[in-house]
Amino acid sequence: EPVLEARDVAKHFPVGRRGVVRAVEDATLALLPGRIVALVGESGSGKTTLARVLARFYPPTSGEVLLHGRAGTGRRGYHSDVQLIFQDPFGSLNPLHRVRYNLERALRLHHRTRDRRELERQVLDLLERVSLSPAGDFVDKFPHELSGGQRQRVVIARALAVRPKVLLGDEPISMLDVSIRLDMLNLLARLRDEDGLALLYITHDIASARYLCDDIVVMYAGRMIEGGPKEDVIARPRHPYTKLLIESSPDPGRGEDDRAALFDGADELGEPPSLVNPPAGCRFHPRCPFAMPECEQSPPPRTDLGGGHWAHCWLHQKGRAGDLASTTHAA
Ligand code: SF4
Repeated sequence: EPVLEARDVAKHFPVGRRGVVRAVEDATLALLPGRIVALVGESGSGKTTLARVLARFYPPTSGEVLLHGRAGTGRRGYHSDVQLIFQDPFGSLNPLHRVRYNLERALRLHHRTRDRRELERQVLDLLERVSLSPAGDFVDKFPHELSGGQRQRVVIARALAVRPKVLLGDEPISMLDVSIRLDMLNLLARLRDEDGLALLYITHDIASARYLCDDIVVMYAGRMIEGGPKEDVIARPRHPYTKLLIESSPDPGRGEDDRAALFDGADELGEPPSLVNPPAGCRFHPRCPFAMPECEQSPPPRTDLGGGHWAHCWLHQKGRAGDLASTTHAA
């Protein structure tokens, strides 16, 4: 059973006379215990907005978000189960307080832990769990005395203090030094295994998604365009944009330096469209080499491709999926 679900979620922001930013449309997603879903897309694809809707920082414009199948959980109860980890670990911690305070506050708020010795034991245990060891060396430090990677570990420890069922990681490694990103991904994978967490890993970098996740969902210009088990999506992408994204991304298996190849990312895909007046029909059609007349008229429906793999592309509705399989292209 999903722990957290988005059903047909849309999020729009009014922008004065310019109209409405249609940041997310028709987003449907289920997060299951013990599985990591990667939400992959360029800047401006709507993935961060969707994460904030899932974390209840923004109400959806339409659609619903269900926690354990219910929509009406109170705010504190919701955040006891769903925690969001931000990109910038420095901005996430109170710089005026030591690590101890940052963790104790979460324990007090969510579990009403008051006993001093019990608080100390739990704080040290949390630091050890995120590999800040020996914990006694870190507990009395201020955030500015820690490296970026250590700060992000403290942020994760604070999220774990709440004992959540779901972690939403919004580009949690993108501001960290390349040399420690792999360690951080391994930490997230370990927490998934140890606690059975449902984890949403949000990234612009399909290579790190390939490394970490079980399933991949690709967003483009506010819409989910393809998703499914990682192996199938990577080996046989069924949407032209996903195919382009994968072809543009370094593959550690091709003999390049693993760490560099894993995180170089695919940043050379050109500009995504404005979400104020996004293209009608399929939002990818201005850049798509396979575009057909219907692509400009109607958003493509979802096609289920078997094995949990799906895509929104008219090629599959028109019996032209073979065009995609045989073509390598650039935008
Ligand atoms: Fe290209 Fe049309 Fe498929 Fe969109 S629906 S990706 S424009 S072929």
